[in-house]
Amino acid sequence: PTCLVWLRNDLRLADNPALAAACDSGMRVVALFIHETDEDVRQPGAAARWWLNQSLEHLSEALGAIGIPLVVREGKAGTVIDQMISEEGVQAIHWNRRYAPGERALDSAIKDDLQQRGFAVASHMGNVLAEPWTVATGQGKPYSVFTPFRKNLRQMHIDQPLPAPDKLASPIKSKKVDGDYQRPFWAKKFDGIWVIGEAGAHKALETFLDSLLDDYPQGRDFPAEEATSRLSPHLRHGEISPRQVWHATLAHMHAERGSHEAGEKFLSEISWRDFNYHQLYHREDIANVPMQEKYAGMKWEHDQQGLVAWQEGRTGIPMVDAGMRELWATGFMQNRVRMLTASFLVKNLLIDWRIGERWFWDCLCDGDVANNPANWQWVAGSGLDAAPYFRIFNPVTQGTRFDKGGDYVRRWVPELAKLPDKHIQDPANAPKDVLKKAGIELGKDYPLPIADLKQSRERALERQGSL
Ligand code: FAD
Repeated sequence: PTCLVWLRNDLRLADNPALAAACDSGMRVVALFIHETDEDVRQPGAAARWWLNQSLEHLSEALGAIGIPLVVREGKAGTVIDQMISEEGVQAIHWNRRYAPGERALDSAIKDDLQQRGFAVASHMGNVLAEPWTVATGQGKPYSVFTPFRKNLRQMHIDQPLPAPDKLASPIKSKKVDGDYQRPFWAKKFDGIWVIGEAGAHKALETFLDSLLDDYPQGRDFPAEEATSRLSPHLRHGEISPRQVWHATLAHMHAERGSHEAGEKFLSEISWRDFNYHQLYHREDIANVPMQEKYAGMKWEHDQQGLVAWQEGRTGIPMVDAGMRELWATGFMQNRVRMLTASFLVKNLLIDWRIGERWFWDCLCDGDVANNPANWQWVAGSGLDAAPYFRIFNPVTQGTRFDKGGDYVRRWVPELAKLPDKHIQDPANAPKDVLKKAGIELGKDYPLPIADLKQSRERALERQGSL
């Protein structure tokens, strides 16, 4: 008999409860990954897909070493599982839970169907610190505000991560991963930036804890410093579990002196991820439906030209352009820059947050079903614990605060590199002779701003204030 482990956003050996349970079953174990074509499941964006394909190669090798073949197929999940049942003589199936409404509906339909047909099916918790329904307010309700959620989570018992399974007693020889290997060609340029796979994820965590954690509370806001963990694409694909990150951070805090505050800050950021999964689970379709009902009545602009300028990093606002170009070139963007580029789209251009969310989804290696929409709703003001509508980021002021020396802008908008620090965040207001000396003709070498920050701010305040 064979035990099937259906892997999804959990592409790792260690701390993988579904895999551990399958290995404990005493049966031969086959792992399955499905490029799902079910309409209920959100297709990964192009950048995440690029990551996924490589992550599967690493996973296949690591599973092969302990005697588990990885089969990669494309199709509707129920159909592919049925094929596996007949090809491999499957009797039991394990998976780790996922939380988007469509995914839950699909998984529970498959589970019911298989159980009715006499198969043993078990789902496990592998992708969050705590199940969304176990963290509740004093009244037993879901949280809508982050701080009390985080405090509650911090008090909860989080189980220690599980070790990777040992080599199986009756290993199966692994074949090369079959299935779709096409990489989106534009993502090829990411080659060499990331170390994909479980080992790469642990290396990133180790480097972060050893060299960056102490400066994290200050450094995390400064995009040029690259002071954060860069774990998000690894977490997105489950190459490392939040529980592993949590306990490694706690262990580091207990072993080292002086890094407690920094460690707590990092645990708090990690808790945002669980908070967003909490929202994904409890609220209606957060990628499409504003969490605050009144935002359903928001009137958005149809500004195709503005949208394309934003996507291509040609808005004439240096921090926005730097961020959008970093995203396009690396599949990543630092958090503060994500906030201010998103804010520029939603507030200054008044373009629907869902359109921006989809662009990020397609371009981010970490494009995540909970974190992406929840953060967009935070920026748009339609989230439950969101930035209040009257607090509108000014990307020029943000640039002068968080990229004072202009290093980040110079890296991604090289045509501005020769501008002095004082003017690099706001070339539109630089004196003519300064621009000339830096070799820049506005409107030719670098765009004039596509929005007047002051006027567009007033327009956004008016539009949102009247909801
Ligand atoms: P670190 O600062 O090192 O944080 C460690 C981990 O904590 C992150 O990997 C992430 O899992 C979690 N975390 C940190 N900040 C947040 C946050 N605000 N919300 C949720 N989790 C957080 N994150 C994604 O993982 N996927 C997305 O698709 C995504 N889309 C975003 C869209 C917008 C508009 C904004 C403003 C933020 C988005 N984020 C998203 C959150 C955040 O920007 C990234 O998680 C973070 O920049 C990743 O870098 P890091 O791993 O170095 O972060």
